[in-house]
Amino acid sequence: MYSKRFEKETFKAEVRDNVKTLYRKTIDEATPQQIFQAVSYAVKEVIIDDWLASQKAYDEADAKTVYYMSMEFLMGRALGNNLINMTAYSEVKEALKEMNIDLNAIEDEEPDPALGNGGLGRLAACFLDSLSTLNYPAYGCGIRYRYGMFKQKIENGYQVEVPDNWLKEGNPFELRREEYAKEVRFGGNIRFEKDPETGKDIFIQENYESVLAIPYDMPIVGYGNHVVNTLRVWDAKAITDFQLDEFDRGNYHKAVEQENLAKLIVDVLYPNDNHYSGKELRLKQQYFFISASLQAMIAKYKKKHNDIRKLHEKVVIQMNDTHPTVAVPELMRLLIDEEGLNWEEAWEVMSKTCAYTNHTIMAEALEKWPIDLFSRLLPRIYQIVQEIDRRFLIQVREKYPGNEEKVKKMAILMDGQVRMANMAIISGFSVNGVAKLHTEILKNQELKDFYEMFPQKFNNKTNGITQRRFLAHGNPLLAGWITDRIGDGWLTDLSKIANLKPLVNDEQARREFMQIKHKNKVRLAEYIKKHNGIELDPRSIFDVQVKRLHEYKRQFLNILHIMYLYNQIKEHPEMSFYPRTFIFGAKAAAGYQRAKETIKLINSVADVVNNDRSINGKLKVVFIEDYRVSNAELLFAAADVSEQISTASKEASGTGNMKFMLNGAPTLGTMDGANVEIVQEVGEENAFIFGLSSQEVINYENQGGYNPLDIYFNDWELKRVIDQLMDGTYANGDHNMYKNLYNSLLNTQCTARPDMYFILKDFRPYAEAHKRVEEAYRDEQRWSKMAILNTACSGKFSSDRTIEEYVTDIWKLKKVYVPSGQPE
Ligand SMILES: *Cc1c(COP(=O)(O)O)cnc(C)c1O
Repeated sequence: MYSKRFEKETFKAEVRDNVKTLYRKTIDEATPQQIFQAVSYAVKEVIIDDWLASQKAYDEADAKTVYYMSMEFLMGRALGNNLINMTAYSEVKEALKEMNIDLNAIEDEEPDPALGNGGLGRLAACFLDSLSTLNYPAYGCGIRYRYGMFKQKIENGYQVEVPDNWLKEGNPFELRREEYAKEVRFGGNIRFEKDPETGKDIFIQENYESVLAIPYDMPIVGYGNHVVNTLRVWDAKAITDFQLDEFDRGNYHKAVEQENLAKLIVDVLYPNDNHYSGKELRLKQQYFFISASLQAMIAKYKKKHNDIRKLHEKVVIQMNDTHPTVAVPELMRLLIDEEGLNWEEAWEVMSKTCAYTNHTIMAEALEKWPIDLFSRLLPRIYQIVQEIDRRFLIQVREKYPGNEEKVKKMAILMDGQVRMANMAIISGFSVNGVAKLHTEILKNQELKDFYEMFPQKFNNKTNGITQRRFLAHGNPLLAGWITDRIGDGWLTDLSKIANLKPLVNDEQARREFMQIKHKNKVRLAEYIKKHNGIELDPRSIFDVQVKRLHEYKRQFLNILHIMYLYNQIKEHPEMSFYPRTFIFGAKAAAGYQRAKETIKLINSVADVVNNDRSINGKLKVVFIEDYRVSNAELLFAAADVSEQISTASKEASGTGNMKFMLNGAPTLGTMDGANVEIVQEVGEENAFIFGLSSQEVINYENQGGYNPLDIYFNDWELKRVIDQLMDGTYANGDHNMYKNLYNSLLNTQCTARPDMYFILKDFRPYAEAHKRVEEAYRDEQRWSKMAILNTACSGKFSSDRTIEEYVTDIWKLKKVYVPSGQPE
């Protein structure tokens, strides 16, 4: 047993006690939310013992630690996951049942901590789970946004954004650590002096504004190993009067300003996914959490070590995209201005400490800060960036004499902008892509110049997901079945799931596997009945596309194809057609017009199709409101088909694709991102692949695109679908509702390149791939084999595998074993 505190009677007493002390109530009087809090505090008690034990073991081992720096951590709910990882889920479920409490209902009381947009933030969360499970010392560092990703409501088919006040009821799984607060300074000017004694340059920041960063620690529990790492997210508060300079005391305006700055800085997560929007506040957020995290990191190092020149032997920083890249100049500043190193010494330490992960090659996602904004907000940091750039360009000109083109392409400072990706690549010791195809495109196209200059820095780390959340927690029926069949080793070593492979020839096993899928479809159908009021047939094919709404992900292609199928069914009612349920879930960035129009289109098509009695329920379309980690778990478990249809070359990896595969849903997709590796593992005959290759897309792009009118005028069925965007079919007669979408496909007046994402080009191959899906699904034996094989071949896609690769190639960490912190 993980802890005696989980013994039924002990645990029940603890929950009763907590309800009493927290709310002065008995269990029968407590609300579900109050019971959630009481249960969570009981669980946290256990966690804290192991948290202390982990810290002690790390201290004794003096182990190297990774600091995973990320603007986003899309954690999902903590209670259920913590219980899974403490191997106490079923014990606690039973204990609560004896008190007439349903654990699942209690879990539903927890708000999703949605401190992330999508894939990038969820990756950070999976990595933390794996780091703890694999016994590696780690900190996640980020921001404690008061408002995380907005809640999505659908009103009259349109997305409405509602603030996500996730802390309203308090977060039982966090600890405020006031004693580790750090000051962070913005703006002002830099005065330069010579130290009269040492003759060294000193830089003094004056007339700045500052805020106090206060850390909140959240425990990250490893699976069954008593390891608890820390996710440290920073809150901001104003520096109170007595901490202001002598000069500023009693300066009321200044006090109010600092109050406002502090409130604003951590107010809200920017809801853009794969899109840069140069807002000053966003840069403030970046510097705020990076400066605080690095100050804390150095302070911790100095408690045990006195030579700051060896910092890189004990810490390594992974930058999740360019968002944390101010870590480079900030670490230089701390080493030079605060620790007294000279430039060369500081560079040596910094460049051996920082590593960068690239997540996208799309131009609109690249961070480029205007120099005037950057230098005004971070004057000392800007000086350091100038010096990094100056020294780097000397190197470039040495390697490529007279080639000013190279300088233009590779400089950090160019055309009035600070190019963060260039700084990350130049300064760190590692640059990694997130899937094989993506890394090859980086090396051979997007970052070719840098690859030629620093080939040794480039490496691939194909993303992964944690099987603890996305199978053990999200799909308990399948998890239990797998454990019955092959043991529970897969929980910490997903390569073992390959032991399911022989079962494809076992008829009984195939039947059981499909029965579980059916039960999960019934569970999802109940959720949809409750939330959408739509009745589904769980025997229909559940075809699911859930991910952020983005043009490159091509939800538009999916819905156009549904419109096409609907026309077909209406015109040929006798045609044989296997009933299909198309399920979407997606949030659009608040200012992204075409994305929002796509949501409206999906909902309008759903309205028409679902209410057309004449098609006998052959086709249903569902839009899941507020797609997030908690309902994602239900969706992956219930999916028959995984839609991964991005324009080839645009999706760096994808991780949703892996979650579907793990849960036995074959991929219907393009050869993009990690789909390529999924197909490699499962075999092309167990996936449905279609469309342009990444090289074909890149070739078209290099020749300025293609002419979609050639397709439009030669495919009358497709033309009819596109015309239906403008004829009011799905808009109650309104001819303008989808004009932005229509124009994005065809109108050269409205877009530089019509159909930038090759939707018309890929339409027929996509429709044909759907035909193959239908045919395969009709053959129950064939389908059940495919489904099991997808699960059985998903071993590579555990984030445990990804983390071991980061550890071996980049971080060089050692495992630390933690004795149970539980009292005997
Ligand atoms: C996995 C996940 C994502 C990423 O999905 P992709 O299909 O890889 O874009 C986004 N949001 C949530 C809630 C997820 O769980």
